[in-house]
Amino acid sequence: MGRSVFVNGRVFDGTEVLPAGTTVVVENNRIAKVTSAPVETGSDDTVHDLAGKTLMPGLVQCHFHTGFGPDAGNPSPYLGQAMPPTYMGMIAAKNAQIAIDFGVTSIIGSSNGDLLDVSLKEAILLGLTVGPRVIPCTREMIAPGDSADGDVRSWYMGIEHTGLTRHVSGVEEMRLAVREEVGRGCQIVKLSISDGHGSQIIPDWNYMSEEEIVTAVDEAHNRQAMVRAHCPSRKGIIQCAKAGVDIIDHADMIDEEGIELVVASGASITPSYLWSVRYMGFAASWDYANGPFPIGNGFPETQAQTETRLAGVKEQFEYSVSMLPKMRAAGVNLVLGDDYGFAMMPHGDYASEMEAYVNYGTPALEVMQWGTRNGAKAMGRHGVDLGEIAEGKLADLLVVEGDPTEDVLVFRNPANIQLVLKDGVVQKDLLPATA
Ligand SMILES: [Zn+2]
Repeated sequence: MGRSVFVNGRVFDGTEVLPAGTTVVVENNRIAKVTSAPVETGSDDTVHDLAGKTLMPGLVQCHFHTGFGPDAGNPSPYLGQAMPPTYMGMIAAKNAQIAIDFGVTSIIGSSNGDLLDVSLKEAILLGLTVGPRVIPCTREMIAPGDSADGDVRSWYMGIEHTGLTRHVSGVEEMRLAVREEVGRGCQIVKLSISDGHGSQIIPDWNYMSEEEIVTAVDEAHNRQAMVRAHCPSRKGIIQCAKAGVDIIDHADMIDEEGIELVVASGASITPSYLWSVRYMGFAASWDYANGPFPIGNGFPETQAQTETRLAGVKEQFEYSVSMLPKMRAAGVNLVLGDDYGFAMMPHGDYASEMEAYVNYGTPALEVMQWGTRNGAKAMGRHGVDLGEIAEGKLADLLVVEGDPTEDVLVFRNPANIQLVLKDGVVQKDLLPATA
């Protein structure tokens, strides 16, 4: 089989843009050569002239709900618990196809029901659908009284079912839950530690005890699985970092102590600003003549209560934004990933999350590092085989029109993502035919 030779393009290797004139050669499923020297090609080889385009590692989405999406006209507050598993499987397959179309070659799951992630991973490996490499996540472990359990409008989430959430109370139940779900093929365990993020005011107390968190990490790591935690609270971030949680989601109220502990533990953080930005925008545009704001803190909530809550949410978001430069400077492993699948932020809208970080002061080049190198670090695969263009690494590669290290919005239009290789296999190809 011939090689693929990429010439004349901009090469972003996951960290920096390589000097002009760099040629990249792919042989079988690996990057065989990255060189500034001329490469001799044979009649078997395919040469791609990438003038005006960028070659880069495939994107890694580190907070991916495979089951979030439109279910039969219901907006997604149902979070995949209102429809049968068969239907949810089709949503997952569709989301996987969308991810590939937008240049995502790896995902880390972030809670789902009915073994959706595990099933999706198998289906992709068997060729039943196209999709990225999947690190399958468990259901979301929630303590009784979690907001996902407690309020009037989400009462059904607390009923024993096979959907998104699983009740866990005490270390023995946690041990059992992790053993069962990892045993079924999940490779990352999701915990719900504390309330809030973008829509609710974040209190400085947690749903889960330190002992439960430590038990989840011990059991998961013993089985070579990772742990991630929905954790907006300051106290929870500190406990998660100390316990060795691998991915801390949202981390809204992180303080200096938390940053230090997160850097020391090597945990990754998904700041996931898009949800917050979209939620606040949606709330600001809500006409109360149509009734109470529909994504409230329980129900009913008066307009005055909603407005007070949203003012608090906004203030906390501004605090989070103020901590972002500190996290970047300290070297926190920041990664991409957000709650795509809600009506206000459909799967595929990944460029808008990137744009949010740029709008809050992060250079586009750095956001691209989050999306490639840092994502591979979160998977435990950086320096091993993913997230960079370097000799010997797996050929998870994109050819993108334009320069995403200057303008992340090239990812808004899937027509700009012209070639997607995963493990050397073409997933999408819009490049003009080569002579
Ligand atoms: Zn989530």
